[in-house]
Amino acid sequence: MAKDIKALIKGYEKFRKQYFKNPASIFEDLVRLGQRPKILMIACSDSRIDPAIVMGCQPGDLFVIRNVANLVPPYEEDQSYHGTSAALQFGVCSLGIRHVILFGHTQCGGIQALLEQTPETCEQKGFIAKWMELAKPAYDTVLKLHSQETLHKRMTLCGQYSLINSLKNLETFPWIKERIEKRKVLLHAWNFDLEKGVLESFDRKSQRFREVRLEKNFEDLYDAPY
Ligand SMILES: [Zn+2]
Repeated sequence: MAKDIKALIKGYEKFRKQYFKNPASIFEDLVRLGQRPKILMIACSDSRIDPAIVMGCQPGDLFVIRNVANLVPPYEEDQSYHGTSAALQFGVCSLGIRHVILFGHTQCGGIQALLEQTPETCEQKGFIAKWMELAKPAYDTVLKLHSQETLHKRMTLCGQYSLINSLKNLETFPWIKERIEKRKVLLHAWNFDLEKGVLESFDRKSQRFREVRLEKNFEDLYDAPY
C-alpha cells in the first residue's frame, strides 16, 4: 500500500525543486498577485485525462472543475449543495474567466454506466445514477438515432451529445448568459479521443466536432460568439 504513495512523494519533491527552489519561479507572482486564469475547464474525474497535462499548462493557467463525465447541471435556485455550479460561479463572477471549456473524452465510465444502466455496487447507492440523469437528453438521442451502433460507438456519440447538452445548461446560468451576450465569456465543447490521442472541438456552424489545431481561421473558430 505504501508504495502507491511513494511515487506521489517523489513527484512532490520534483515539483518542489522545480517551482519553489528556483528564485524566478512562477509561484512568486502567483502568490503575490493571486490567481488570474483566463480559462475554466470542466473535465471528467477519469485518471487518464488531465486537461493541464494535455494542454501543456502551468500552475495558474487553468481553473478546473472535475466531476463524473464532465457534466454541467442546469441553473437551479434551491437550497441544495451544488459543487459544480459553485465553482462555475466563482470562476466566472470572481475570477473573470474568459473561456469556459467543457473537456470531455471517449471511453468515459460515467457514459458507459448510463448506456448500460450498470447497477451501482457500493453501499452509497444512487449517487452516480442520479448524477448521470443530467446526461439523459444525450442518452435519449443515442437511443433514438443510433441504437444499432456498437457500444463503443454509442459511448462516443453519447459523450458528444452530452457535451452539447452541457453547453445548453451553461447558458441557463444568468451570469453566464449575460456575459455571453456582452461577449465577455465564450463557451467551447472539446472532446479528447483517448485511443487516437486527438482533441476535437464542437463547431456550432457545421454542428460537427473537428480537430483542434492552429489553422488559418483559428480566430474565427475560437472567438465565435456562442
Ligand atoms: Zn469520463
